Amino acid sequence: MNTLLEHIISDCRQYTAQGHVATYIPELANVDPDQVGICISLDNGREYFAGDCQAQFTMQSVVKPLILLQALMDSGVDTIHSLVGVEATGKPFDTFNYSDQPLSRTNINPMINTGSIALCTLIHGATYRDRFGRLLELARKLAGNPQLTVNESVYQSEKLTGSKNRALAYLLTAYGMISDPVEEVLDCYFRACSISVTCRDLARIAHIFANHGAHPVTKEQLFPAEYAKYVNATLVTSGMYDGSGEFALNVGFPAKSGVGGGIMGVIPRRMGVGVFAPALDQRGNSVAGIKALEKLSRELDLSIY
Ligand code: GLU
Repeated sequence: MNTLLEHIISDCRQYTAQGHVATYIPELANVDPDQVGICISLDNGREYFAGDCQAQFTMQSVVKPLILLQALMDSGVDTIHSLVGVEATGKPFDTFNYSDQPLSRTNINPMINTGSIALCTLIHGATYRDRFGRLLELARKLAGNPQLTVNESVYQSEKLTGSKNRALAYLLTAYGMISDPVEEVLDCYFRACSISVTCRDLARIAHIFANHGAHPVTKEQLFPAEYAKYVNATLVTSGMYDGSGEFALNVGFPAKSGVGGGIMGVIPRRMGVGVFAPALDQRGNSVAGIKALEKLSRELDLSIY
């Protein structure tokens, strides 16, 4: 398996030249665009790696499935579903073009910024710092990595410059969809996006979603299977932004990308995959990361369709 992964990484490294690192969060502009890494987590704790698999990067939107999961665990399916819908939007992840329609649950989903910011309000906690603390604990537990923490410079950078997300949060307020103070809600969201991980952390988190909530080694049920299915389904329709349809066609399993360059791939009942390659396409997806997942899917016949 390691040999296969090495081949995939050396074939895909060339594609990093076709993308660009995100710059709208200034701190992300400092990342080396040529990195490519992959990790696979299989049953019984078998893990395989290649490339820049030790590199640390921030989760960014890859944390959205965890925000959804924590909100599901705290508030239940009905409450989540009444605030944030599940349809693909066909719009970029940070769209604020709702002018053709009033903002409502039917035109947002948990994998775009508006939906994810709204879901932060359904995570329990006395303060938004507490809510974030519980989210971080969840990430640590699923990744089996108690060291996971926030990259402070990325967090500060996004908090300082996140006008678009502020606009989205005020839009949610204007339409009566959230009522808590915008800065507090956003602070939870920005910190969550700035959690620093490696490919291995993503592969392990993905593996638990693939196992419908059961830990692949201890077999402990960490959260209800129905929540894993909820999250996985939203990843299929919306996890790869407005490139989710093409990804379903060419790769064929639930996945979530982030502008930090990470992608988490969930292959139900089989494995979890984490890739990292920070040069992004215009939609905000990792160019080499998608190529690597395409090759992996073809080699191991991973498409669920
Ligand atoms: N923190 C980023 C933002 O809200 C996440 C975007 C992404 O990874 O798609 O703009």
